[in-house]
Amino acid sequence: MTITWIDDPEFECEGKTVFCRVDFNVPLDENLEIIDDSRILAVLPTIRLLLEKGAKLILASHLGRPKGKIKSTYSLEPVAVRLRNLLNNDVIFVEDCVGDGVKQLIRDLPANNILMLENTRFHSGEEKNERSFSKMIAKGIDIFVNDAFGAAHRAHSSTVGIVNFVSKCVGGLLMKREVEALDSVRVRPQKPFILILGGAKVSDKLELLTQLLNKADKIIIGGAMAYTFLKVLGQNIGASRVDEERLTAAKNILQKASENSVEIVLPIDHVVASEFSKETNIKIVSSDEFEPDEMGLDIGPKTISLFKDALGNAGTGFWNGPMGVFEWPNFSRGTFEMAKALAEFEGYSVVGGGDSLAAISQLGLKDRFSHVSTGGGASMEFLQGSKLVGLEALNFYG
Ligand code: AMP
Repeated sequence: MTITWIDDPEFECEGKTVFCRVDFNVPLDENLEIIDDSRILAVLPTIRLLLEKGAKLILASHLGRPKGKIKSTYSLEPVAVRLRNLLNNDVIFVEDCVGDGVKQLIRDLPANNILMLENTRFHSGEEKNERSFSKMIAKGIDIFVNDAFGAAHRAHSSTVGIVNFVSKCVGGLLMKREVEALDSVRVRPQKPFILILGGAKVSDKLELLTQLLNKADKIIIGGAMAYTFLKVLGQNIGASRVDEERLTAAKNILQKASENSVEIVLPIDHVVASEFSKETNIKIVSSDEFEPDEMGLDIGPKTISLFKDALGNAGTGFWNGPMGVFEWPNFSRGTFEMAKALAEFEGYSVVGGGDSLAAISQLGLKDRFSHVSTGGGASMEFLQGSKLVGLEALNFYG
């Protein structure tokens, strides 16, 4: 048996109660206003298609990490309000995702209407993938649609456990789009294939680096990650952030890259500061010119040129992770310049969620990429060849 997608002609849901797991984990500001609605917009085609096909539609999602507790700052109500405006359709918001009251509302829901449930992570059973919780959310549901690509690497009740209690389980349009775009990068990237990685945590990207060492032609590394590699190369990096526990792993990657003739491109100059703060004095130094108390918080202008040249006429570019502390204007230039370079790039350009997605959204460049993934962790796991549990539950892997 293989996966069924909701646009398969034989998939029908007329008059059925459809539980659609989406990823509405959007960033909110302190007034609980949505900062970036990319993830909501990305699911609209699925919602529209299910309504067209006559579903009684239940939407469920997580938001943030409330750790099994009800916290108003993690409520999905602002998302329901935004959805109402975007769809020009009434979206009934219910302040829980399980329980008798919710089940009654589900029973009473007319076809072509939407009921949006409160944050699934307000219940501790969700992240533990507890059987009893999975059973509760599945009650009264005819069809499960998973369109939450951003949560497809998590075995939770509403992404995985639920399939044990619903007879028909299928994939949504966003899930399909993500999988097709990322598969084309994973299986047959147009060459040269360049990987651009940044961000702070080396650990998150080690597996991707290792797996793509025999596929990528060049790997550009910026952000705090770069300092772990520069330290291995014996460079003076002052007080820059280093992942001391991954020095050996970084050394192995450099060695394997050289054996495989994969070029690793690292920063040659840096925007540095003596304190980690938004308002601080900055200066640009070449590698090796760091004072002991200085830390690199963005790539410098020569590195921007070097990275842009390295991108050159690549066939495929996959980018995940900012080049510096892009949240602060003093250290955002490297990230924004890379975003612009990738937007102008003529090859197949893919951005893997998270901060990189936030950066291109801020610059209004989203439409200029071949594919913008809504899932940071999920896109990296997919690309490195790991099976995503959410897809496995839908029989994607056969
Ligand atoms: P990650 O979750 O590993 O992708 O890391 C993202 C974070 O890395 C962002 O919040 C950036 O502010 C941070 N970051 C990027 N470059 C640096 C740097 N050179 N030093 C410290 N933090 C950085």
